[in-house]
Amino acid sequence: MKRKYVYFFGAGKAEGKGSQRELLGGKGAGLAEMTNIGLPVPAGFTITVEACEYANAHEMKWPAGMEAEVRRQVARLEKVTGKKLGDAKDPLLVSVRSGAARSMPGMMETILNLGLSDASVRGLAERTGNPRFAWDAYRRLLQMYATVVMGLNKDVLEDKLHALKQRLGLEYDMDVPAEAWEELCGDFKEFYRAQTNEEFPQNPWIQLRGAINAVFRSWNAPKAVTYRRVEKITDIKGTGVNVQQMVFGNMGDDSGTGVCFTRDPSTGENVYYGDMLINAQGEDVVAGIRTPMRLDDLQESMPDMYDQLLAVRAMLEINYGEMQDLEFTFERGKLYILQCRSGKRTPHAAFRIAVEQATMPLIGRSDARRLVKEKYLPKKYEAAASRPVIMKDQAIARIAGADIERLFYPIISSDVSRDELASRRIAEGINAVPGAACGKVAFSADEAEEMAGRGEPVILVRKDTSPEDVGGMQAAKGILTQTGGKTSHAAVVARGWGKCCIVGCSALDIDYERGEMTVNGQTIRRGDALTLDGSSGTVYIGELELVRPEPPAEFDTLMGWVDKRRRLRVRTNADTPVDSRKAVEMGAEGIGLCRTEHMFFATRERQLAIQEMIVAESAERRKAALDRLLPYQRDDFIGIFEAMDGRPVTVRLLDPPLHEFVPKTREQAEELSEVTGVPADAILTRAEQLHEANPMLGHRGCRLCITYPEILEMQVRAVIEAAVEVKRRGRKVHPEIMIPLTIAARELEILVDRTRAVADAIIKQAGVKLPYLVGTMVETPRAALTAGAVAEVAEFFSFGTNDLTQMTMGLSRDDAGRFLPEYYDADKAAIFPDDPFQSLDQDGVGKLVASAIADGREARPKLKIGICGEHGGEPKSVKFCHRVNMDYVSCSPYRVPIARLAAAQAAIEEDTPRRPVRSARKSTRKAVRRTVKKAAKKRTASKSPKRATRKTKKTKKTKKAKKAKKTKKARKARR
Ligand code: ADP
Ligand code: MG
Ligand code: MG
Repeated sequence: MKRKYVYFFGAGKAEGKGSQRELLGGKGAGLAEMTNIGLPVPAGFTITVEACEYANAHEMKWPAGMEAEVRRQVARLEKVTGKKLGDAKDPLLVSVRSGAARSMPGMMETILNLGLSDASVRGLAERTGNPRFAWDAYRRLLQMYATVVMGLNKDVLEDKLHALKQRLGLEYDMDVPAEAWEELCGDFKEFYRAQTNEEFPQNPWIQLRGAINAVFRSWNAPKAVTYRRVEKITDIKGTGVNVQQMVFGNMGDDSGTGVCFTRDPSTGENVYYGDMLINAQGEDVVAGIRTPMRLDDLQESMPDMYDQLLAVRAMLEINYGEMQDLEFTFERGKLYILQCRSGKRTPHAAFRIAVEQATMPLIGRSDARRLVKEKYLPKKYEAAASRPVIMKDQAIARIAGADIERLFYPIISSDVSRDELASRRIAEGINAVPGAACGKVAFSADEAEEMAGRGEPVILVRKDTSPEDVGGMQAAKGILTQTGGKTSHAAVVARGWGKCCIVGCSALDIDYERGEMTVNGQTIRRGDALTLDGSSGTVYIGELELVRPEPPAEFDTLMGWVDKRRRLRVRTNADTPVDSRKAVEMGAEGIGLCRTEHMFFATRERQLAIQEMIVAESAERRKAALDRLLPYQRDDFIGIFEAMDGRPVTVRLLDPPLHEFVPKTREQAEELSEVTGVPADAILTRAEQLHEANPMLGHRGCRLCITYPEILEMQVRAVIEAAVEVKRRGRKVHPEIMIPLTIAARELEILVDRTRAVADAIIKQAGVKLPYLVGTMVETPRAALTAGAVAEVAEFFSFGTNDLTQMTMGLSRDDAGRFLPEYYDADKAAIFPDDPFQSLDQDGVGKLVASAIADGREARPKLKIGICGEHGGEPKSVKFCHRVNMDYVSCSPYRVPIARLAAAQAAIEEDTPRRPVRSARKSTRKAVRRTVKKAAKKRTASKSPKRATRKTKKTKKTKKAKKAKKTKKARKARR
């Protein structure tokens, strides 16, 4: 079949679909979807991303057949609109709009009012009876065409406009009379001719071809390329082009244009949030020329227009099940929607929106009823508009790990006194993106990048930002602009990153040339320190202390749903009581990795004791040194066991090569010599002896305990004595002793026997009951390959995927950084999709993990299995762990919530055979519920019998409760 390059939308039907983002671009897919669900969208057609990719690769030659398709679709558009392109009396005017599969705000071009010419501008003036409007439209086309299509200088044209207004003594564009616009059009055409040696094309087909090519080309404009690099957008190859009938917001006081969000994107509150300009066209709102009107005010002054918008809000959220960001235009009181997309939001808002969408109705019954009555809302939406728009699973699926990370972005410490805050406050702006930042002032993007490159925290201060500034914005800790509102470029881009941003801070008087600004009488120079509070919009001079914030209530609600939904447990890697407590606060259900060696570095005394042990010349002296370490370790374990309060704690025996502990310099050797009496020379000789060419593959891990059994004995003693002590204090305790780096079942067997001998003797002597486990890390390929035999001796496996990755790939984790980026950077060799030390290499290392699990469980069905490498907190890897049926993942305390979320998402993905359903239509919702239930049933049946009984009991209970409720109701009714 011939490839189709052009897709029509209009008159209630579209050839494309909302799901075809890759083909039509986000804007094109949105326009198609909105047309199909019955929203008022001006008609038009979308040229595919494939066509753009082709043209860019073939010097702007269009793919075969596209030209004919465009002509056919223009004819169709003419039929639907009843107007003709280039008609002198009643011309069809269109916009030519870019739109890629992922939102790239302001990065590419759009041309409005295309189709106007010297002849048709008069026709338009006559037909509308509004020559001022017609000539204004024409000068906009001339301006955009000259700059966007022909690449002429923007500023020259802007200056001409400015000079004209000054000459007439006018402040606003809308006050400029028709004759003056006409004159300016003449000026612009003259400029065009002088610069290009051509006339401005009067033929609309030439205009259209030029505009389409300009949009194609804008894909490769430097700012767009930079934006894609910064945003790591690598999977899409071009932009779609949308040619769409113009509607006019500048036809009088019952016309206007605006942008809005279906909920507040910075707090997530369920309010209609946005700005609108009366009697304005296109970009006027974003450009911040006049102060826009808030939607609340519109509700007051023009309720009829507001209700049209309100109906659209409901229809969009019901269909997309997502907060939308939309562009609209009123032409003489009638609403048109020009764009919608999932709105960017702050992390706080992300949680609030997800939770409220899943639990509360959007607009309520009475509003819905009124909108139906007014015929703005189709009847079939009435019920849905007063119900939650999504299910809990969808709320969970929507949150990203990055949202959680950003939730904990810094705020100003409450230790900073009110007085200090007051004395340092220098200005207020609009709080565009919350969170606080402090750093040194830079006044340009380049400067910001340069300073950040030197490792300095930067606050980027600009009058406003434009797409050229994204590099510097990315490099800065915070962004401050003098102009603009919450939908300005700076605000939108910063919100996408969750980066602290204050806009519209009009008190700033910036002098770029001198590299300074004055703010309410104070002068601030490049490099001076500022602190921004993006939540309140306040600017402070100097550096204030920042701390991590408390998460919002909706975070706890959603994480509660997450914990119910997930089957994978989440533990933490923690070596101290403080970390352990923090991790429990973050939701950790145990410790998956407690590294004992960190305890040896904690104080000088401990360091000396371990060094003494290592340089000891006899087993007796080694034992004596170890005896000195024992109480330290025991106390640490007591602290950790208490902090974990009955949750399982996996303690790993000594892992690193001994040479990491010994003195390296003569000075250090002499210090140790004083304590131990071993001569300094002997110490240095010993250090040299311990030196290894390849320490990571050397005498480390359990190999140490094979050679020096007394190390194992001391550590096991410390763990078990601590456990006994905690038990005596009346607390529960579940120690799990973990032997690192096993390569052979026989090796492990020896160590397990020794471990049990020590532990059992202590327990017996103490006369308590203390169950404990002994298991191993699986972090050498050989351990994984012989997992069946290893599992005969080990009660649990914990995959140490850092070492396992290193050894399976044969790449040193400590050295690979120099060349590894070549292997995963998308614009370099891209041999792997991700850094294998960050995100588990599922095809290679993952295969080894999966087969070790299968072999291990075959040998020992109850084998407990977890992961404790860096990967345990990385969402993709966590999902993998779920799929291969691990019992738990373990990660650093702050990653615990991220892992909990990923675990729940993995369960949802498994239970939802089809892609997550977006539509909230009743039948589909029911179907989803059914499949989810079925899957859940299957799951419970296949899981351990204990769990299954728990589940059924629960359902019985709720059924009973429901029944009781019913009878109660019935009784009430009878009364
Ligand atoms: P961007 O991606 O930069 O937002 P758009 O293609 O959305 O660019 O268009 C820029 C502005 O022009 C927007 O405000 C949009 O609403 C307006 N616009 C685009 N097409 C039309 C049209 N057919 N009628 C009226 N306004 C339009
Ligand atoms: Mg837009
Ligand atoms: Mg290891």
